[in-house]
Amino acid sequence: MAGIPEHIIDQVRERTDIVEVVSKYIPLKKAGRNYKAVCPFHHEKTPSFMVSPAKQIFHCFGCGAGGNVFNFVMKYERLEFPETVRDLAKRAGVDIPVTSGQSAEKASLSETLHSINEMAMQFYQKNLLSKASSTASREYIQKRGIQPKIVEEFKIGYAPKSWSGLLEFLKDKGCKDDHLEKSGLVIKNREGRFFDRFRDKIIFPITDSKGKIKGFGSRVMDSSMPKYTNSPDTFIYNKGNHLYGLKQSWEDIRDKNAAVVVEGYLDLLTPFQHGIKNVVATLGTALTLEQVKLLKRFTDNIIILYDADAAGENAAVRSLDLLIEEELKVKVAQLPKGEDPDSYVKKHGSDLFRELLDNAQDLFDYKIGILLKRFDSNKLEGKAKIASEMLPLISKIRNAILQSGYIKRLGDLLSIDEADLKKEMSKVKPDYTYRYQPVSPLEPETAKSRMAEKILAGLMLEDDIFIGPVRGNLRCEDFQDIAIRQIVEKLFFSFDKSMKITPSKLIDLFGRDEKICACIAELIATCDNLVDKKKSHVDCIEWIKERKLKDERKALCDEIKAAQDSGDDAKVVDLVMKYSNVVKEVKV
Ligand SMILES: [Zn+2]
Repeated sequence: MAGIPEHIIDQVRERTDIVEVVSKYIPLKKAGRNYKAVCPFHHEKTPSFMVSPAKQIFHCFGCGAGGNVFNFVMKYERLEFPETVRDLAKRAGVDIPVTSGQSAEKASLSETLHSINEMAMQFYQKNLLSKASSTASREYIQKRGIQPKIVEEFKIGYAPKSWSGLLEFLKDKGCKDDHLEKSGLVIKNREGRFFDRFRDKIIFPITDSKGKIKGFGSRVMDSSMPKYTNSPDTFIYNKGNHLYGLKQSWEDIRDKNAAVVVEGYLDLLTPFQHGIKNVVATLGTALTLEQVKLLKRFTDNIIILYDADAAGENAAVRSLDLLIEEELKVKVAQLPKGEDPDSYVKKHGSDLFRELLDNAQDLFDYKIGILLKRFDSNKLEGKAKIASEMLPLISKIRNAILQSGYIKRLGDLLSIDEADLKKEMSKVKPDYTYRYQPVSPLEPETAKSRMAEKILAGLMLEDDIFIGPVRGNLRCEDFQDIAIRQIVEKLFFSFDKSMKITPSKLIDLFGRDEKICACIAELIATCDNLVDKKKSHVDCIEWIKERKLKDERKALCDEIKAAQDSGDDAKVVDLVMKYSNVVKEVKV
């Protein structure tokens, strides 16, 4: 499986405790035999997320997420399966042998690039600090008021004014040309010669939340353009997927339950050294969906703090929709004209800076404020323009009470009738698709039948002793739910071969089919609360048998009618015989 031998995956799974791993990411609370938590995968106030130490699975009754420890780490860390296994293997002390094949190559490319980045960071850092190197870089750091401890914490460095400083350093360390090119740190010219990408620049390593260096950002020390250059996208770095400073800020973001989003490196570093540590920087772009999802792991509250210029304003407005679609609570803090977070905190100190954040405007007020400056709300065209900008935003707010409150306020501000605005809003075409498909209510009979199937499959997953009687009475095809049927097939198969199979292992047998993995976890979680398991087991077998007979009887009735209509008397007689046998078995 994906380059890592099956028995190694088994070893990692067996030596890993799901409770221990999950509790590293989210606080778990003991509840009976299991553990409970607020689900990290959907927004909720009361915990519906559970972890079963006995079965080594997790399941959320709210959003349906579920699986074993691999699924959890993959989902939480957004990792691929091989990466996840490697990660957990390291924690569990299992060695993964080097194998050939594309996946192994890919994994090692990722490792190689990370280690090249690590070496490059050390090179840049040494250059900033060494006396032999440029004094201009140290002067710049001093002039910007960045303290040595911040330089150390964020591993800020300096790329010397040389075409091959880093190149030679990395070659001395044994790095191959191919890898150097893939790291994005060196560029190949037309003659095929390599040279350093970053020259005479201050360097800011960009890491993930665990501190692994993904790429680098750089800034010139004078007023030349471009001010900022970043690493190009590489195998391990994608500009829109990372947030600068998350490694240093995530704990504060979680503790304060709010993240302040700024644009540039210094906009983050200066407030950070003044004690405002729940800050991340987007690296000069509007927030991307990936970045929003990263933040959502730690908080639902976002305060956008962009420069008080038109570019900053536009970046903020563009981010708003995305944040609302992800159901985050958004506020916008406004800096006085001509200020950025760096200059503001320097001039006014951290208390006033905090005050600025506390006074952040709700997104409605912020956006309407901008629009009122741009359009004349006394004129009809102005009103129409403002309404057409605001209504799509309001239509994205899922909370109905909040939404109608905003409509009312918009109506008051523009002196437009609320009902008219509502009518206009109903015309707004959603330019995005809802992530949650509405669940269509099942027919009572179907719902009952699905529940019986769920309970039986869940009990069989819970304990082998429940498999034999089901195997004796029912066939796989008697399970109508496709996911459950596939699970039952595997359970029957291993039962026939007298193989013991844990739910956690079964989940891996289904590979990366997220739906079936979540289904297995759901079945176990459902059965966990059954009071009388033995009775439920017997009842559900009987119930499915009866349903099966009823279905057969109905099918026969239809066939008899068809045969009668076509005048096939022999067939009618045959079918009626069959029918009477079936009727005998059905308890009515
Ligand atoms: Zn959930």
